[in-house]
Amino acid sequence: MISFEPTPEQDALRQRIERFVMEQIVPYEKDPRNTSHGPTEELRIELNALARDAGLFAPHVPQKWGGLGLDHVSMAIAFEACGLSPLGPIAMHCAAPDEGNMNLLDKVATEAQKQRWLKPFAAGEFRSCFSMTEPWGAGADPSELRTKARYDGEDLLVSGVKWLITGAQGAGFTIIFCDVQAEGDKPGGPTMLISDMDADGITLTRQLDTLDSSFTGGHWEVTFDNLRIPAENVLGEVGQGFRYVQVRLAPARLTHCMRWLGGAMRAQGIALDYARKREAFGKPIGRHGEIGAMLAENEMELQQSRLMIWWACALLDKGEQGRHESSMVKTAVSEALFRVADRCVQILGGMGVTGDTVVEQIFRETRAFRIYDGPSEVHKWAISRRIMKG
Ligand SMILES: Cc1cc2nc3c(=O)[nH]c(=O)nc-3n(C[C@H](O)[C@H](O)[C@H](O)COP(=O)(O)OP(=O)(O)OC[C@H]3O[C@@H](n4cnc5c(N)ncnc54)[C@H](O)[C@@H]3O)c2cc1C
Repeated sequence: MISFEPTPEQDALRQRIERFVMEQIVPYEKDPRNTSHGPTEELRIELNALARDAGLFAPHVPQKWGGLGLDHVSMAIAFEACGLSPLGPIAMHCAAPDEGNMNLLDKVATEAQKQRWLKPFAAGEFRSCFSMTEPWGAGADPSELRTKARYDGEDLLVSGVKWLITGAQGAGFTIIFCDVQAEGDKPGGPTMLISDMDADGITLTRQLDTLDSSFTGGHWEVTFDNLRIPAENVLGEVGQGFRYVQVRLAPARLTHCMRWLGGAMRAQGIALDYARKREAFGKPIGRHGEIGAMLAENEMELQQSRLMIWWACALLDKGEQGRHESSMVKTAVSEALFRVADRCVQILGGMGVTGDTVVEQIFRETRAFRIYDGPSEVHKWAISRRIMKG
């Protein structure tokens, strides 16, 4: 059976989140602690407290770890509402990269690792980061890994440079994707490791100035120099890193789509309001054909995006991996939302490129979104390879 109707519970949750974000979170968008490198740690903690009080903290997290334990379709509805402000996901502790890392730890970590990292992390005691991309190494093609780990007894020593690492500053721990060098009967290959960020051997070498500005802690270049990882901090098994990348990536691609759909909805609302009120050549600009067409195109692409997200989420809720589908959704939705944001900037005229509305930020964020979690070209290439194979 196909249903496009949210349940009364899903709809009630959506309304609660929308009210929470629009009434309590949006006013913080102009807070000086919401910087060009994202909200500060102090602001994140303050916003988290508001979400906790509203009973809306960590909606994706299993109830066992203190969250609302939503399924994927319910998450799609909740995250869209939460994304109405770029600060919404920060407040509700479901922003990237934390949300994806919580999911990965929940699925792959040992019980001891969950107690040590997932439990306090899900409760918002600290943030995390995910260290995969490298300058001139792992990127669109993650198999180009240059960060290596060698055995030292049972421990591993990690050395290499990562960059574009979101939220590295102020994070409590990182998940590192690196290449373990096999030694004797000890296995090797692409592996995920967990490390506290204050460990000896981790240096934040450079903060990057980027187009986007919504992620707490900004984006960093991080150097690992003989970082010691005890055997118990290997995430899953040595050599199985690519399997876990897939566990993390398919749902994480969709949650990005959900949040930025909310952002694009907000931009469309602002553009629509302007198109109704602003007059040029004797009538509201929304009554001029070109602007009306842009608003209509936005309306169609927003609804197409929503339906694609719901479709892929329904597959995940049925227990499917959704790798192919999430690739299609990520590409189609990120491209569509960028077009929506671009049209909203145009409709607002000069105001569109100023910081007077959040549309300018949403435009910048949706531009970056076309690159992270797989650039559009890479997804299209992967989709085409799969369909060519049949
Ligand atoms: C805002 C932001 C936040 C990020 N956060 C993180 C993070 O927290 N942790 C992390 O590890 N990484 C993060 N990244 C990095 C991101 O995952 C990479 O930028 C992305 O995987 C692309 O890798 P690259 O930048 O090295 O591009 P490259 O690998 O250099 O690719 C450049 C371009 O080549 C083209 N290309 C590559 N392969 C193909 C192909 N098969 N067919 C056609 N064209 C192709 C694409 O157009 C691509 O954009 C972030 C990036 C951004 C922009």
